Amino acid sequence: MVSRVIPVERFDLVIFGGTGDLARRKIIPGLYRRYLAGQLPDDARIIGAARTDFDRDEYEGFVRDAVEKYVHVKKHNGDKIKAFSKLFSYFKIDALGDEGWKGLARLVRKDVVQAFYFSVAPRLFGELAKRLHKYKISNDQARIVVEKPFGHDLESAKKLNAVLAEYFDEAQIYRIDHYLGKETVQNLMAVRFANILFEPLWNAQYVDHIQITVAETVGVGGRGTYYDKSGAMRDMVQNHLMQLLCLIAMEPPAHFDPDAVRDEKLKVIRALDPVLPEDIVRGQYRAGDGEDSYLEDAENPDSKTESFMAMMVHVSNWRWNGTPFFLRTGKRLRARKSEIAVIFKDPPHFIFEPQDSAQDGRRCNELVIHLQPDEGMDLRVTLKEPGPGGMRLMDVPLDMSFAEAMGRDADEIPDAYERLVMDVIRGNQTLFMRGDEVEAAWGWVDPIIEGWRSRGDKPKGYDAGSSGPEDALMLMHRLGRRWREIT
Ligand code: NAP
Repeated sequence: MVSRVIPVERFDLVIFGGTGDLARRKIIPGLYRRYLAGQLPDDARIIGAARTDFDRDEYEGFVRDAVEKYVHVKKHNGDKIKAFSKLFSYFKIDALGDEGWKGLARLVRKDVVQAFYFSVAPRLFGELAKRLHKYKISNDQARIVVEKPFGHDLESAKKLNAVLAEYFDEAQIYRIDHYLGKETVQNLMAVRFANILFEPLWNAQYVDHIQITVAETVGVGGRGTYYDKSGAMRDMVQNHLMQLLCLIAMEPPAHFDPDAVRDEKLKVIRALDPVLPEDIVRGQYRAGDGEDSYLEDAENPDSKTESFMAMMVHVSNWRWNGTPFFLRTGKRLRARKSEIAVIFKDPPHFIFEPQDSAQDGRRCNELVIHLQPDEGMDLRVTLKEPGPGGMRLMDVPLDMSFAEAMGRDADEIPDAYERLVMDVIRGNQTLFMRGDEVEAAWGWVDPIIEGWRSRGDKPKGYDAGSSGPEDALMLMHRLGRRWREIT
């Protein structure tokens, strides 16, 4: 299958934090893949900006290393990597200082698309916005890309929105949630809104419940002291899991345009019920497999921060009244897996013999949207087992791996960052969070966190390599449901 690649307009992209981990692992490799696809104009200019003392040659070397290390070896082509690195230059600048900014103003072209990627610590976001404006570097159409975390709570998110709004319009601000850049997440919208098949069933009448799982095998070692100030709720639920929930639960927008989509997502957040304490389970991993426990990784023996959480959430509107959404995320779990599972109800009347193989005696359809490690979807349907011997039923996944379906290797499916950076250049905000969405999400999360603090709740321990604390299983069992395996 030949994919259509439409080159983007001429642009200057300044990556503040151009010497950092995110630039090296995600942004630069993503840009290289777009370059190989022929999407970058010949005179695109990419400027790495940070305090490190690099000259242009050294930075080009940094760019080549990033490509060689983080892009699949099949895509390595010495000449192309060299030519790609020539698109880059480096500008030494301190976001907190006032030196050098006039030089940057001279360097950045005014008559092309301007994008400024803030790939730096959040405390520098406002400082950069202020200086871009003060030194007249950015024009009225310039776009700024803001990394996560966007605030630590509602108050800090509001402050950050207010600071950015002093210098940039909302239409210029691109708040990244890289989950939204995943192929599957966009496919979720295509599946829902480009097919007649699912939408009529997409409601409380036919959907029993929905499970959203983001499981990781890694712990927080190395960034434990940082993570300990955040925890699973702030680090994963407030942004990634809530964004996925919004896309699953939202009403069809009238148009596929950024504000129409984001309006519908916002309505979902506003329809979320407060969560009861008994509907949330928090956990901390114990030591295991020769690895430290959470408390050791966090260097805080008294920590009450969760490295795991599971919760039952209700969306109070006509479509979803009575359908629980179960969210679950954690570190040091059995497998690395992110998925959304839509579990449909049983048929209203079952005419066949009860089947031994049926899960819990139930026989329901499931639509599973896989986000990680491989992107794809499968729809579990019940069929007759082939052969004589009566009407024996079996569950068969109608499997659709995107890579296979599109006739491509898995490493050819565009990475989330790759897509999102191109969307910034194109000026398409659909896959970026709007300021009011972020604030609404914090507004829902804050009272939950405050409840834990005021009650002094402590997370339960769970074994490294497990599926989380026993109580998380019970959260489902008590309602006669069960989590899909983390395998
Ligand atoms: P990092 O590796 O610590 O890099 C930080 C970058 O900021 C470096 O290039 C550093 O370069 C630059 N910097 C620091 N202070 C500066 C200053 N005063 N003026 C100008 N530049 C300065 O961090 P990162 O992992 O790349 O993360 C960057 C952002 O992305 C953060 O907001 C993070 O939360 C977010 N993020 C990262 C990841 C990831 O996988 N890494 C994932 C999601 C979100 P110099 O020291 O040379 O100045």
